[in-house]
Amino acid sequence: MDMNDLHGLFGFIDASPTAFHAVENLRAMLVNAGCEPLEERAAWRLEPGKDYCLTRNQSSIIAFRVPESGFAPFRIAASHSDSPCFKLKPESLRRGDGYATLNVEKYGGMLMSTWLDRPLGIAGRVIVARGDGLEARLVNLDGAPALIPNLPIHVNRDANDGVALNAQVDMLPVVAAEGGETSLLDRIAGAAGAEAGEIVGADLYLCNRDRASVWGLNGEFIAAPRLDDLECAYASARAFIGAKPSRHIDVLAVFDNEEVGSGTRQGADSTLLAEVLRRIALALGAGPQELEASLAGSFMASADNAHAVHPNHPEKYDAGNRVRMNGGVVVKFNAAQKYASDALSAAVFEAVCRRAGVPTQRFANRSDIPGGSTLGNIAVRRASMPAVDIGLAQLAMHSALESAGAADLGHMIGALRAFHEAEIDVERDGLIRLR
Ligand code: ZN
Repeated sequence: MDMNDLHGLFGFIDASPTAFHAVENLRAMLVNAGCEPLEERAAWRLEPGKDYCLTRNQSSIIAFRVPESGFAPFRIAASHSDSPCFKLKPESLRRGDGYATLNVEKYGGMLMSTWLDRPLGIAGRVIVARGDGLEARLVNLDGAPALIPNLPIHVNRDANDGVALNAQVDMLPVVAAEGGETSLLDRIAGAAGAEAGEIVGADLYLCNRDRASVWGLNGEFIAAPRLDDLECAYASARAFIGAKPSRHIDVLAVFDNEEVGSGTRQGADSTLLAEVLRRIALALGAGPQELEASLAGSFMASADNAHAVHPNHPEKYDAGNRVRMNGGVVVKFNAAQKYASDALSAAVFEAVCRRAGVPTQRFANRSDIPGGSTLGNIAVRRASMPAVDIGLAQLAMHSALESAGAADLGHMIGALRAFHEAEIDVERDGLIRLR
């Protein structure tokens, strides 16, 4: 395994407490690598041989590479920037019994118990009113100002038999002794480089402050907050940046709001991807026929982490289709098409991996456990093309601290780089050639 890759991932996750920060850090990686930033609001002039990127809502990002030979089908690697967490409500501060607490609500479906008894950070974005401008600025408060305390076993004797946690009652973090909460707005304003009176709005979240680390007797595992899906987002950005230019248009798409169903203006179930692809076609002088034909000849790999078999509960996983950490890139299958993979798209992707020397493994849920969903099948409803759902095997998905295989990051970077560099020609419906 490549320790430089792992340290890059660890730095990225530690510096990305929210989707806003993840997208800002991805944008910085891409711009450093030569991507020219675009604004959706402006007209685009695109040049052959150049890379571009744009964001929507500061929380989704798309980058693309125009080939020297001009307009061509797309090769898209997709993932998501958000992770389950708690969001501060608009009027969030509460006081009583000697404490100042925050009123928060769930963002996505986390394992709530894992958020208890952990020092938590506060991060997100605030709106600064200055002159006639209302500007969104990212904030990440120093340290870990919040903690959600458990009840002691002595007043909750059934705690080890399973506790029902109510988000409205049990999950409100303490941020100060009562009276000390007056510094909260100053801390937030200071983090935004503004005065408290200039803050007119906020999208703020609690985040786990644990730093990403290696574990296992031989360093074979990693643990970090938000591995789902920042591990795939980081891997796909590294693969996009490292891939040699090819005949098709490489696209990196990292969407917000997967954890709440993708149905927002910047999510996978929005116009974002389809509009960007159409604008690329228009800017490169392609007509509607050429665009539709190129979409049908495009290919998407949607990368979102997968469930590694749990050593204490192997019975929760399908007997013949379970996957393990460090076993390579997971290709996901589901009869109800919660995953976009089909026999042909999966075979193409696995062949690309085989050629690149990257191991793959196949995953399906138990038939009596519905499993999760992801964004691949949603994205291709909006921009229809052959697609495969992939991921990396991890434990404790949606825990505040998740674990994965230390060798698998390199597997995903290698697989997606090979995917961008491969010549995958959709010759006709039912026939794809790999050159
Ligand atoms: Zn995910």
